[in-house]
Amino acid sequence: MPHETPLLSTIVVGIVLAFAFGAVAHRLKASPLVGYLLAGIVIGPFTPGFVADRNIANELSEIGIILLMFGVGLQFSMHELLSVRAIAVPGALVQIVVATALGVSLAKLLGWTLGAGLVFGVALSVASTVVVLRTLQERRLLDTERGRIAVGWLVVEDLAMVLVLVFLPALAEFTNSAAGVSPSVILVPLAITLGKFAAFVALMWFVGRRVIPWLLHYVAHTGSRELFRLAVLAISLGVAYGAAMLFDVSFALGAFFAGMILSESALSQRAAQETLPLRDAFAVLFFVSVGMLFDPSVILSHPLSLLATLLIVIVAKSALAYALVRLFRHSESTALMIAASRAQIGEFSFILAGLGVGLGLLPPLGRDLILAAALISILLTPFLFAGADWIYAHHEPPKKAPAEAAPAPAPPETPTREPVPVTHLTNHVVLVGYGRVGRVAAAALKDAGVPLLVFETDEDIIESLRKQNTETISGNAADPALARAANYPAARCLLVAIPDGFEGGQVVEQARALNATLRIIARAHSEEEIAHLLRHGASKVIMGEHLIADAMVENVQLAVSPASFAPSAAPPATASTDAATAEPAPPT
Ligand code: AMP
Repeated sequence: MPHETPLLSTIVVGIVLAFAFGAVAHRLKASPLVGYLLAGIVIGPFTPGFVADRNIANELSEIGIILLMFGVGLQFSMHELLSVRAIAVPGALVQIVVATALGVSLAKLLGWTLGAGLVFGVALSVASTVVVLRTLQERRLLDTERGRIAVGWLVVEDLAMVLVLVFLPALAEFTNSAAGVSPSVILVPLAITLGKFAAFVALMWFVGRRVIPWLLHYVAHTGSRELFRLAVLAISLGVAYGAAMLFDVSFALGAFFAGMILSESALSQRAAQETLPLRDAFAVLFFVSVGMLFDPSVILSHPLSLLATLLIVIVAKSALAYALVRLFRHSESTALMIAASRAQIGEFSFILAGLGVGLGLLPPLGRDLILAAALISILLTPFLFAGADWIYAHHEPPKKAPAEAAPAPAPPETPTREPVPVTHLTNHVVLVGYGRVGRVAAAALKDAGVPLLVFETDEDIIESLRKQNTETISGNAADPALARAANYPAARCLLVAIPDGFEGGQVVEQARALNATLRIIARAHSEEEIAHLLRHGASKVIMGEHLIADAMVENVQLAVSPASFAPSAAPPATASTDAATAEPAPPT
C-alpha cells in the first residue's frame, strides 16, 4: 500500500480494523479491547501485510490520553484529590519501590546491569492510565470512593514517572561513566522539574482558574454549540500541550489539571459530554498502537522471562496493592478493585522502555518483554475485574470472632481514635448517607418529628448538619466501632441511602448483628446489589430504576384513558424487594 498519506491511512485502517475486530470480540462476548489490540497486531510491523506508521499511531493515542484525563479532571475537585492522598501517595510510592525491586531482581537473574534492572523495574511498576480510566468509566466507578483512590493513585504515579524520565539520562551518565558523577547531575534536574511542576500548578490555580471558566462561559453565551465544543477541545488539548512544552509536565497531568479547574464550573457536565465521541475514538487508537508494538516471537524465544515479567505485573503488583489498601483499613471490595486496576502496564512503560534502550541502559530484550507483558496484561484486564467481582460476590467475608475483628472495614481517616459515645436517641431512625437520596428522606422525617441520626463520611456535610442541630456520626457506617454508637437495639429503623449496594451490605451486616429485628431499608442499583443486601439482612431493598419505571407507567396511564390500561394488561414494575415476600435474585 502506498505510504504517501501515512497519517490518513493510520487513522482509517486503525479505526476500521478496530471496529471490525471489536465487533467480533463483542459478538464472542469478550471485551472489545481485545479486538482493538488484535487490530493493532494485524497492522503492526511483525505481521505481514499493511504496516501502519507506529510513531503516528503513538501520537494519535496521546490525544486519547489527553481527552481521557481531561474528562476525569472534570469530575474531580482538588478537594476530592486531596481527600485520597492518605492512601494514594504511600500506596503508589510503595508499589513503585517494591515492583522496581522485583524488576531489578529479575534483571539480575537475566544477567543485566543494575541500570537496566532499574529501568525495567520502574516500567513494570506503573499502571496504564488509559486502561484504568476506561475500565472505571465502563463500570461507573469514577464517582465512588474506590474510583477516587484509583485516580489519585494514577496521578501520583504519573508525577513520579515524570520525575523518572528526567532522572533517566542522569542515571545513564552515572552508570556509563566509570568514575561516577556528582550528585548534582541527578539532583539539579530533579529540582528543576519539581519547580516547573509547582510553577504549572500555581499558574493553573491563580490564572487558569479564573480565565478558563470565564472563557467557557463566554462561549456558552454565544449560543453556538460548535464554538463551545471547539472551546472545550482547545482548552483540553491546549493546556496539555502547553504544560508539556513549557513546564515539562506530561500531557496527561496537564489535561487532568485543566479538567480539574473546570470541575467547579456549572458547565463542566456539558464540557465532558462534548469531548466524549472524540475521546472514545482516540482511546481506541491507543489500544491499536499498543497492539502494533507487540512482537509475538518473544513468546517463543523467551517464554520463562516473559512469564516472570507477567508474574510481577499481574500477581505481585495486585497482591501488593490489595495488602496496602487493606492495611489502610479500606473495605474488601475497594481492595479487590484497586488490586485489579494495578495489574497491567501501559503508556509510561513504553516511553521508559524506548528511552532506556535509546540511552543504552536497557537491552532490546527488556523492551520486548515490557511490550509483550503490556499487551498480555491489558488483554487480561477485563477478566481480572470480573474475577475481582466474582471473588467478592462468592467469597462472603467470614464472620469474625470479636477478638479478631481488627481488619474490619473502616475509613482510613480515623484509624486510631477516641471511642464514639453511644447516642442517647431512642425510637430513632438511623440514616446512612446524606446525599441525593438521604437528604430528601431526612427532610421528610424531620417534618414528621421523627428523631434522626445521620451517618456521613463527608466532613463538609457533617459540619452543615451539625449547624442544623441534626445528630450525626462522622465516618463509615460499616465500621463496627461506629455502628455501636448508633444504638441500633433501641432504633426504630435503618435507612441505608448510599449509592454502593455492596458497601451498603457491610452497613446492613453490622446493624443486623446488633439488632436481629430492626427494620432495615436499603438502596440498590442492580439485581446483584439487591441480592447482596438481602443476604446481609436487609428487610427491604429499593431500586431507584424500578421506581422511575413505575412512575413512568403511572404517568402513561394518567395521560391516556385509564380504561385502556387495565391493571391486568401488564405486571407493574417491581419498585422494591421485600425480604419477607421475595426470593433474592440468584447471585451471578
Ligand atoms: P448520593 O450518591 O448523592 O446519594 O450520596 C451518598 C452520600 O453517602 C454521600 O454524601 C457520601 O459521603 C455518603 N456515604 C457514602 N458511603 C458512606 C458510608 N459507608 N457511611 C456513611 N456515609 C456514606
